Amino acid sequence: MGGWQQLFCRASRSPLRLPMFGLIGHSTNLEEARAKARFLGYEEYASGDLDMWCSAPPQLVERITVTSPTGKQIEGAYIDSVFVPEMLGRFKTARRKVLNAMELAQKSGLDITALGGFTSIIFENFNLLQQQHIRNTTLDWQRFTTGNTHTAWVICRQVETIAPTIGIDLAKASVAVVGATGDIGSAVCRWLSQRTGVAELLLVARQQAPLEALQLELGGGRILPLEEALTQADVVVWVASLPQTLSIDRERLHRPCLMVDGGYPKNLDSKVACEGVHVVKGGIVEFGSDIGWQMMEVAEMTNPQRQMFACFAEAMLLDFEDHHTNFSWGRNNISLERMDWIGAASVRHGFQALGLEERPLASLVNA
Ligand code: NDP
Repeated sequence: MGGWQQLFCRASRSPLRLPMFGLIGHSTNLEEARAKARFLGYEEYASGDLDMWCSAPPQLVERITVTSPTGKQIEGAYIDSVFVPEMLGRFKTARRKVLNAMELAQKSGLDITALGGFTSIIFENFNLLQQQHIRNTTLDWQRFTTGNTHTAWVICRQVETIAPTIGIDLAKASVAVVGATGDIGSAVCRWLSQRTGVAELLLVARQQAPLEALQLELGGGRILPLEEALTQADVVVWVASLPQTLSIDRERLHRPCLMVDGGYPKNLDSKVACEGVHVVKGGIVEFGSDIGWQMMEVAEMTNPQRQMFACFAEAMLLDFEDHHTNFSWGRNNISLERMDWIGAASVRHGFQALGLEERPLASLVNA
């Protein structure tokens, strides 16, 4: 633990002249968190139980420098919230983890920080907007972004670019969005119906009233239970965190079928991938050159030096563009114009949406 603290002290004392981006993340589960701690040389964390992890403070674990193909260089930091999904049932712990990580980001002088993984969902669902004061710090919401606009744009690009390569004509296709009424899901629905022009949208979520409101907003789309939607879809976009126990009957899926696994954690591959059913990790981007960081090494990325969650990349993009503001904030506010803006920035600064078999889309197109 001494090492993390030393690193943090060194980081917080250094004079910050330029704006900086931040990333707040967490491990997929306690086991992975322990492995990460061992990888970084923190044996005390590696052998700690859930109670020990619940009481551990957030850690600024790494400083990062990224250079855009435009030549612009930015600096930032990765903060591990020391949250793990096993804590989701412990309301007060989850809330404390997210707020403490945000406080650390702000105190470390980070100008725009992405709330990665479950942290943005905890922020929204536990209504943390009411919790602006942490000890002697007043959180400045302008310094944080959920990163969901970029995530939604990347997922839509994955659908548009990969579907034709596996024989799916989107103009004739049924596309199911599981988690359609969520922040990312509703943006994906807007884009696919208005920009891509898919033949039919199948809207899936548990609560009926928000589904009907979305259907009204879109001027279309069919509301279906998950099991039925899966038997009718050529493309399925998963943007809900689904229980690990969910079972899917592969035999009833369309062939070909594209599954975009945009949820967290990414666990669809083992459940459905088979002949004719293609699974891509959704909402993941690949940068054009090695970043030279450690943080993605244990995040199940195939090329951890270049790949990352699109929400993290959003903080980098906002920094590259000198746009230090809470670009993605609140729920169901993502407009097509904002998706256009962040998408153009993404391309300009050298990010690519991930393709099938972990290959960037460009290599698929050139194959
Ligand atoms: P929201 O909480 O806004 O939306 C979740 C959606 O899923 C809602 O429509 C909800 O509706 C639905 N849902 C939840 N449980 C189920 C279920 N069992 N069956 C069907 N629908 C369900 O979340 P976000 O849009 O912010 O995030 C969605 C996912 O994307 C998350 O898993 C998140 O971790 C992941 N994500 C990925 C990122 C990346 O960079 N790749 C970045 C950010 C998020 P209802 O409650 O009515 O069922």
